[in-house]
Amino acid sequence: MLKMQTKLAANAASNLRRKRITINKRQDNNIIADDQSLINFSHNDYLSIATDPRVRQAFIEGVDKYGFGSGSAPVVSGYYAPHQEFEQQFAEFIGFDRAIVFNSGYHANLGVITTFAKRDSMIVADKLCHASMIDGAILARAKLLRYIHNNTMQAEDLLLRAASKSKLLLTESVYSMEGDIANINALAKLAKRYDSGLIIDDGHGIGWLGEQGKGVCDYAQLNQNDLTCVTMPLGKAFGGVGGIVVGSNETIEALLQFARSYRYSTALPPAIVHAAITALKVIRAENWRREKLKSLIQFFITQAKERNLNLSSAALTPIKCIIVGDNQAAVTLQQKLMQQGFLVAAIRPPTVPKGSARIRISLNCLHTEAQVASLLSVIARSVATK
Ligand SMILES: *Cc1c(COP(=O)(O)O)cnc(C)c1O
Repeated sequence: MLKMQTKLAANAASNLRRKRITINKRQDNNIIADDQSLINFSHNDYLSIATDPRVRQAFIEGVDKYGFGSGSAPVVSGYYAPHQEFEQQFAEFIGFDRAIVFNSGYHANLGVITTFAKRDSMIVADKLCHASMIDGAILARAKLLRYIHNNTMQAEDLLLRAASKSKLLLTESVYSMEGDIANINALAKLAKRYDSGLIIDDGHGIGWLGEQGKGVCDYAQLNQNDLTCVTMPLGKAFGGVGGIVVGSNETIEALLQFARSYRYSTALPPAIVHAAITALKVIRAENWRREKLKSLIQFFITQAKERNLNLSSAALTPIKCIIVGDNQAAVTLQQKLMQQGFLVAAIRPPTVPKGSARIRISLNCLHTEAQVASLLSVIARSVATK
């Protein structure tokens, strides 16, 4: 027990202690948190789907029809008509054979990685891959080698080293804490050349990237023969919860048969999946959401440059980070922004490498240019007077 006390004290002393903010009310980007009215620049619901009236209505309809929960794991009796319909529609949307719904992106990554890598496999992953991919690799007991972020040359070196082994290459599409986009085509070529599996986590691409928001496969023009599978968490631009994996018939059948995070966890409530079907409809049809988001990203980059702010990446993605470095400085800046009516995330290690604490801003299609300009002005003033 004493040891844990020491650990907690060290955590607090390094300014790494996490606190939660309680949100009492939400409509799109406007929230009331701790009795304060804030504009939310910290959530990943990039297209404002979570509060869309049609999606809410579908959720209510789903509850009326199916109740609160699914009652059991999908392979027992937790698999409902909405699960089946959503999987079919989603696979068709992406242009792959088949899809399977996991309870979260985290479950999905654990499931796919442990299914396609084993104790004697070699996993090659970008150093900045999401924790759920790293945890999947650890759970698979495979040998894990990591390359410097976006360094495809080093990725190739590592694949070469794994010559005789079964190999699996892991990457995100849009990196969640950098906001840059991986060189997906180069990685897909490496996977082919070195006979390696390839798993892409499209958590921050699906919904807004590519035509109709089809995500990384459309963006990089990849089909199911170019990779093992793609994980698409539904808690980001889909505005809900869950994780869907798309792949060939064989890949998805393997997940259904062997992924323990699928088999041994109660299926998502059918009402959630029923709402996800409507979310998919809205996302496909309403291009204006993506157009508005993209124009806001452009606006943000121009305005940040004018104010000499140090962005982690100027890629055209809705994730924009301002590197602060020091842990306490990031928290102080976040608190200052909160006092001014903006909620942003202070991201610290181990979520990001040591010494690179940052403010993470998520742009949304319903933010206004005035809100973005005002946020950047407060940041620029705070950075200047530090
Ligand atoms: C959020 C996220 C996950 C986890 O998905 P959940 O549905 O939140 O469990 C996995 N990978 C990436 C890249 C993410 O951003």
